[in-house]
Amino acid sequence: MLEDKKQERTSLEELGEFGLIEHLTNSFSLNQKSTVMGIGDDAAVLNFENKQTVVSTDLLIEGVHFDLSYMPLKHLGYKSVMVNLSDIYAMNATATQVTVSLAVSNRFPLEAIEELYQGIALATDKYKVDLVGGDTTSSTTGLLISITAIGYAKSSELVYRSGAKPNDLLVVSGDLGGAYMGLQVLEREKEVFKVNPNSQPDLEPYSYIVERQLKPEARKDIAGLLETLKVKPTSMIDISDGLSSEILHLCKKSNVGCNLFEDKIPLDPTVISACEEFKIDSTMVALNGGEDYELLFTIDQKDFEKIKGNPNLTIIGHMTEVSEGAHLITRGNTKIELSAQGWNSFKP
Ligand code: ADP
Ligand code: MG
Repeated sequence: MLEDKKQERTSLEELGEFGLIEHLTNSFSLNQKSTVMGIGDDAAVLNFENKQTVVSTDLLIEGVHFDLSYMPLKHLGYKSVMVNLSDIYAMNATATQVTVSLAVSNRFPLEAIEELYQGIALATDKYKVDLVGGDTTSSTTGLLISITAIGYAKSSELVYRSGAKPNDLLVVSGDLGGAYMGLQVLEREKEVFKVNPNSQPDLEPYSYIVERQLKPEARKDIAGLLETLKVKPTSMIDISDGLSSEILHLCKKSNVGCNLFEDKIPLDPTVISACEEFKIDSTMVALNGGEDYELLFTIDQKDFEKIKGNPNLTIIGHMTEVSEGAHLITRGNTKIELSAQGWNSFKP
């Protein structure tokens, strides 16, 4: 059944723009109380009553941000939503709505765009956000996706990048470097496939890191966890570009320095073994890899006991006076200045 469907190729022109929008969006239902009007009018109408509204948007371009030769469209749809929800959660806010805008070339049949929307639907379902609008247009070559995520928070709950103070503890959720190593595995398989199209890659040993790359999860759970622990971060950011560059953002916005301890950086065993196999330094991967979508935040020293030993959170350093700068303290106790190598989309 699924196989048959894959071989069908309905051209987008057959449906027309309105037919396509209707076809893609008619199975989405609205669940958020704040959604007054969703898809179907000139604009969506939202009502957050006395809450602050939080908005974030991202643009993803084929060949720049994703490669369809190893990124299935369904995963791409899912990940595009995650990337945006992650920004809302990084404000300590609740995500409630998304809009999805697409530019599609006629290289894509309807079935491909359906797959993309299956991923979007999976994400909106799981994270309980309403799809309330978007735009659909054609492109001359590739695929372009822009998603806007909307959410809310009480003003007292919002956490900005700017609130860290010297001596605050630096904390990260989950583990780092997986998405980057997953990408290395997928790129290697792509090269093998080019040489031998009949090769059947065994990705099983790499399933955790491949999943971190193809199907990341935004940390919706962290706001609730912190609330339960009665901890409000002093500053927060999500890790889209790599730990190093995100730490420097917090430092810059908060006007503080930082000591990050290499031996505290949380790494999954699969990341460590993949780094050994690819002969890459795991610390460099965590610092510069990006796309982990974990949350990085600072807390007051007095909250140490509340988060100590929590399996979801790791204390990886502390903030300092701005004059001390931002450093990595290596396992050998050497101090190295942190630099923002990050994931720079302007790099050639
Ligand atoms: P307009 O001419 O005002 O731009 P459209 O015909 O583009 O209106 O869109 C009609 C409705 O469908 C609007 O509610 C719009 O937000 C929604 N919409 C358009 N494209 C998409 C899409 N790709 N995904 C979700 N909703 C969409
Ligand atoms: Mg439109």
